[in-house]
Amino acid sequence: MRILVVEDEIHLAEALGQILKKNNYTVDISNDGESGLDNALSGIYDVIVLDIMLPKIDGIEVLKTLRSEGFDTPVILLTAKSDVADKVRGLDSGADDYLSKPFSTEELLARIRALGRRRGEIVAAADSITFGDITLNTGALKLSSGKNEITLTLKESELLEYLMLHKGVVCSKEQIIEKLWGFDSEAEANHVEVYISFLRKKLAFVHSKTSINTVRSVGYALSEG
Ligand code: CA
Repeated sequence: MRILVVEDEIHLAEALGQILKKNNYTVDISNDGESGLDNALSGIYDVIVLDIMLPKIDGIEVLKTLRSEGFDTPVILLTAKSDVADKVRGLDSGADDYLSKPFSTEELLARIRALGRRRGEIVAAADSITFGDITLNTGALKLSSGKNEITLTLKESELLEYLMLHKGVVCSKEQIIEKLWGFDSEAEANHVEVYISFLRKKLAFVHSKTSINTVRSVGYALSEG
């Protein structure tokens, strides 16, 4: 799961980042509302932990913009105020949950797990995508074409899903790295090349005509073959 933390108190942001990483989440941190919104609009996060009082754009505005742009990423608001009106305003703006500072890390982790589970259930309910002669089930990690089926690893499934959702568009290696490994990962272009080669083998295994075309020095695009 990939989590975005938008928090301007540097020490708190760093502490949250460390705790979440220790719990095996991939974490990106933004220290103001503007960069938080930019990151959130990438659509790569499973949960966003969003402080309300932020420089540049406040958390409520970030949330409203995100929702008005059609993003349903679960959001946990952090509020320093125990003000009921603030919480109501947050929930009205589309927050899924909120935590009043100070909060225990156990509580934050429990809320994140709950939202991740809820999201997992929603995703699992509508988890088949088709393109050309292939169907990808992102919940079961199955790639099928006709009667042939093969199991994918999570990263292979995420990569293929990304290419399928961006059909007709060339996806750059940088975009793919961002989506699969997060902004501050040490993944490099050759990671992408390796996974592309795995996927090509699996497409061949299910006898699909669909191919992943290399667009030299730009990236990759799916083609129905
Ligand atoms: Ca703040």
